[in-house]
Amino acid sequence: MALHDQTRKTASGDSGKAASGESGEIASRLLAWYDAHHRDLPWRVAPRELARGIRPDPYRVWLSEVMLQQTTVEAVKSYFRAFVEKWPDIEALAASPTEDVMKAWAGLGYYSRARNLKACADLVARQGGRFPVTQAGLRELPGIGAYTAAAIAAIAFDRPAAVVDGNVERVVSRLFSIVTPLSEAKSDIRTYVERMVPATRPGDFAQAMMDLGATICTPRRPRCMLCPLREDCSAIISGDAERFPVRLPKGEKPLRRGAAFVAVRGDGAILLRKRGDKGLLGGMTEVPTTGWTARIDGAT
Ligand code: SF4
Repeated sequence: MALHDQTRKTASGDSGKAASGESGEIASRLLAWYDAHHRDLPWRVAPRELARGIRPDPYRVWLSEVMLQQTTVEAVKSYFRAFVEKWPDIEALAASPTEDVMKAWAGLGYYSRARNLKACADLVARQGGRFPVTQAGLRELPGIGAYTAAAIAAIAFDRPAAVVDGNVERVVSRLFSIVTPLSEAKSDIRTYVERMVPATRPGDFAQAMMDLGATICTPRRPRCMLCPLREDCSAIISGDAERFPVRLPKGEKPLRRGAAFVAVRGDGAILLRKRGDKGLLGGMTEVPTTGWTARIDGAT
């Protein structure tokens, strides 16, 4: 279906058509660019390798996608290499104590991801070591939400899934000059992506969109003159691509305060406790603290 069939609110006031082109043309332009300019990432099987018959390892795709939740590519690279060296497959990770996984994860943040990673490895290993191939099946696993399920289905199994992260939201908002605030436009953006996903190479398409958002259609000063989609992009016509995605003004965040207590034993040891498994920094060790409060008098 042509993209301009979609009726929605765009800056140009038309029916949502990009400056030119249909979904198939956008996908083929993007894939041609990806073939030449893709990023080399330690978890990625490049187009030239795919052409030689090398298939993505679902374990590595899953591991990278979980690590990349809330974390940058640069921060993840060294952790990914260390994990696959220590635990080359899901059975090895499942056989390892949770404490070891938490230690290897230390520094990546959002520690509930590490606990879910281990729980997921345990479950998949118990079920024969094979990941489900569908988004619905993947979402049944611990720590795998809608985005991660779509990314694994597309990249590991070449399923035509719409993979929509912040980079992709930005690219699509600009391609179609979507003036609806991003928080309200997410389902429309997903529809656009669903229509663009090609029947062949959907995994490469997902990764190409990610790469375009990370390297060309960046939040500040997008490099439109190098963009393979400049002929399709309505934001470039307006000359103000940075205007998109449109965001509602942020509400003021409350400032919260707490107190930490450092107790030193006579022999110099510092007394620590383990946090509960759920919530902020769950399962990590810490010096004892009060709760966090926004009240000036410290009351909760
Ligand atoms: S032409 Fe510019 S704004 Fe449009 S998708 Fe490409 S980089 Fe983004």
